[in-house]
Amino acid sequence: MLVSELGHGLYAIDLEFQGLPGVIASYLLTGAGEYALIETGPSSTLEALLAGLKHLSIDPGDISKLLVTHIHLDHAGAAGTLIQRYPNMHLYVHEVGAPHMIDPSRLLASAERIYGDRMGPLWGKVIPVPESHVHALNDETAISAGNRSLTAVYTPGHASHHVVYRDANSGDVFTGDVAAVRLQGFKTIRPPTPPPDIDLDAWGRSLERIESMGPARLLLTHFGPQNDVAEHLHETRERLAAWASEVGQRYLAGMDRDQIVRELRAFADTDIAGADDPSAAERYELATPTFMSTDGLIRWFRRRFNPA
Ligand SMILES: [Zn+2]
Repeated sequence: MLVSELGHGLYAIDLEFQGLPGVIASYLLTGAGEYALIETGPSSTLEALLAGLKHLSIDPGDISKLLVTHIHLDHAGAAGTLIQRYPNMHLYVHEVGAPHMIDPSRLLASAERIYGDRMGPLWGKVIPVPESHVHALNDETAISAGNRSLTAVYTPGHASHHVVYRDANSGDVFTGDVAAVRLQGFKTIRPPTPPPDIDLDAWGRSLERIESMGPARLLLTHFGPQNDVAEHLHETRERLAAWASEVGQRYLAGMDRDQIVRELRAFADTDIAGADDPSAAERYELATPTFMSTDGLIRWFRRRFNPA
């Protein structure tokens, strides 16, 4: 199903990334005649986003706010294209990420180092967002959307400019990537730890901060609602530590990068072995590739043990 209703005027639109369900979500907030999206997804899934809105009989031109948790292309890549087509839309993003949406050249160079020639098929076009359409956020910036009061909460760890959004009315918290990846119907949590700026210490503090907000639900970009908040956050912490340890031990023992990727992939896939879903491993890899998590963790350990 392309669109699911989640209560309180909230809808999840499944962007069917790379033709597969349940990998990237965009959330539509409705109420009091104003519409907002949390996460735009990449440009490659723009048609799925527009189809989801059409299914809900919503004119994209009536959406005024695009709130992104961070600037990575799977979360914010379509923002420039959307705003070019629908100039009524304005982008909300943490102040550290904002300049990279106005001039995406460094963001694209960083993504190209990770994805190489798969950039186009994965993400589609990325175009700059006009400065006039960018609203930079700080910690605890309040944003109204229709009859809702949202608050951006600064939660670095996955990225240095990551925020989550808390909806004061519903108690929902939109977690981007800081509460990791857990596909619907699965127990397995995968921590997305890409280069270049993961920070495991900050990440732990961000998870505590989310817990202290007492969320009613967590809304994951990858993918969907999690109702057992305490269990999910506990398990996220545990998996993050486990992955860091798997990669760290091998890196510090001098193991070759490609070998670490293979062994981490085997470690990750044992978590979903026997899952009654042949696409599970592929969908987890699309949401957070193991090679990317390996590279991010190696970089983090390298910096920690060889400070410049
Ligand atoms: Zn992501």
